[in-house]
Amino acid sequence: MAFDIDDELPDRESARQFYQKYDPKEVLGKGLSSVVRKCVEKGTGKEYACKIMEFNDDNDETRDATLREIQILKLVGGHPNIIDIIASFETPNYVFIVMELCPHGELFDYLTKVVRLSEKRTRQIMSSILAGVQHLHSYHVVHRDLKPENILMDSTMNVKITDLGFAAQVTDNVSLHDLFGTPGYMAPELLRCSQSDEEGLGYGLPVDLWACGVILYTLLSGLPPFWHRKQHLMFRMIMEGRYSMTGSEWDDVSETAKDLIRHLLVIDPDERYTAAQALQHSFFISERTRRIDFMPKRTLKAHIILVWSIYRLRTLHYRPQPIRGKDLLENPYRFKSYRKMIDSTAFLLYGHWIKKDEHRNQNRATLFQTTEKSVLVRHEQRSHDRQNSS
Ligand code: ADP
Ligand code: MG
Repeated sequence: MAFDIDDELPDRESARQFYQKYDPKEVLGKGLSSVVRKCVEKGTGKEYACKIMEFNDDNDETRDATLREIQILKLVGGHPNIIDIIASFETPNYVFIVMELCPHGELFDYLTKVVRLSEKRTRQIMSSILAGVQHLHSYHVVHRDLKPENILMDSTMNVKITDLGFAAQVTDNVSLHDLFGTPGYMAPELLRCSQSDEEGLGYGLPVDLWACGVILYTLLSGLPPFWHRKQHLMFRMIMEGRYSMTGSEWDDVSETAKDLIRHLLVIDPDERYTAAQALQHSFFISERTRRIDFMPKRTLKAHIILVWSIYRLRTLHYRPQPIRGKDLLENPYRFKSYRKMIDSTAFLLYGHWIKKDEHRNQNRATLFQTTEKSVLVRHEQRSHDRQNSS
């Protein structure tokens, strides 16, 4: 399924066409080899991103790599989780790649802002990344530089894999050997084949799934799984698959999420989950089945709560306010039902209303200053006399 990189070479005259068609605007980001700017299509006013790469005459290899990037982008475009290429232009010293704009920038910046993500958000983001990786792999394209800096968020916060600058197409039975990628995300087999002269060692598509494991670990904990100030010691940790999920940041992470990490950060690439297998893991499946199976129960529960809440609100007027013990002892007059009871008893006893004082408390002094209602006094006097005569 390999393709010839001389196919569809951008037209050398077309930079003029770029400026005729687009207005370059502010810088959106910079990579090792490029500057990415916002640009506006003159005819429509629509905004895009344009990756601009500059070359000297003597770095043909970089130019070839850029042309390969364009061809791979064209090959794998049209997927919701892969950046869409709109056009490309080439001059002797520059290549321009016009892509769809992702106004919310890098997942890296989002993660820096929120530090770590909930499992629900991680599930959404990670399933999109894996869907993108599955799509790349279906074309035998290995990305080789998956990391939060190369994962962008579009206007709806949908995730898009970008920067296919290190991507390569692998044909069956042929593995790659070059050391490509970003240190913390490199897979053990990639490091091993770069550190050894042994024949037969190589790597392929599974290096992307290792990187997905590193990303998943980082999204959930806010920390990288493999980190050491000295890079060679970090590489050793990677090659030995030495990482832990025991710190306090893992306390509220589910076993299911940890289990998926354990199936991605697997030293042996043959044992490592593929993108399709990862997407079938219960970390994603449980959410889906929960949505399907438990939806009726959840809906019923929500309806019961809703009806109950409406009933409570409508009858609030007739119900006594909830009373806490301390409040009741300190100021019973505050509560409407008690106030009514006190007032009506006082009325029964004294024949007129005993008003609360200016502090909104019951005025106890008024109670004692007032004479009791005469009927009751007479009634009490009579029963007292009756007792004495008998
Ligand atoms: P490099 O190969 O030099 O790393 P990238 O393609 O990764 O170049 O782009 C560099 C940076 O530019 C990205 O990390 C991102 O911040 C920004 N960027 C790239 N493409 C877009 C885009 N389509 N929309 C918004 N920002 C982008
Ligand atoms: Mg990049």
